[in-house]
Amino acid sequence: MAAFGLFAVLSLTTGVEADGETRESASSLHPSLRQSIGFPFQGRLQNGVLLRESAYIRHMPDCLRRGRFYGTGALVRLIEGAAYRVAQRVPGGARLSVGELSARTGGRVTGHNSHQNGRDADLAFYIHDAQGRPREATRFINFRSDGQSREAPGIFFDDVRNWEMIAKLVSDGSAQIQYIFVSGPLRERLLRTGASRAPRAIVERARRALVVPREGHPHANHFHVRIYCPEGDRPTCRDRGPWQPWYR
Ligand SMILES: [Zn+2]
Repeated sequence: MAAFGLFAVLSLTTGVEADGETRESASSLHPSLRQSIGFPFQGRLQNGVLLRESAYIRHMPDCLRRGRFYGTGALVRLIEGAAYRVAQRVPGGARLSVGELSARTGGRVTGHNSHQNGRDADLAFYIHDAQGRPREATRFINFRSDGQSREAPGIFFDDVRNWEMIAKLVSDGSAQIQYIFVSGPLRERLLRTGASRAPRAIVERARRALVVPREGHPHANHFHVRIYCPEGDRPTCRDRGPWQPWYR
């Protein structure tokens, strides 16, 4: 609970003072309140916030043992907001299955190059059965360009819910998305779905943020989400490009 308490401290400290004149800038926060240190591939996390299970979110069973569900407040709120949005826009009781974020104090974790300072998250795809009912898996499942899974026959990539999540990720008012890794065929499905459900500007953001990895993991079984350094964590938090044009 102490970690959640930090939100309150952060927002109070950065707010306008009672006299309306003094605004303590986010970058002048005491260093101990900063969360994300260094780069995602060489960094650590302090005051990490635990992403908890809820009516909209579950921890992927396959990832439970290692317990790496910690992130910056910005990342955790972003994921919570996205899962909530999906539940509102597409009722039916689906929960977002969350894979690994960072360890409680960050640093190097097996199985990832990044995920070191609370700004990366692996998110499972929303999935459904042949009747369109949401389903939950115990691990990430690969999907093909036709939206079906060879590993799990009768299970489908949920175009609408996955799109609604992407739309929220790229339009959130506080956390700033750098990119979302996903395979090329699934990226095409998402953008097609978006074109029929969202304003063109949002689809354009998604087109830039959804990145097909050039090498390494093809991301046909989960999204990898990265956010830029939260404002108050700079300059000890470090980013590298690319820079998405819709953020200042
Ligand atoms: Zn990842």
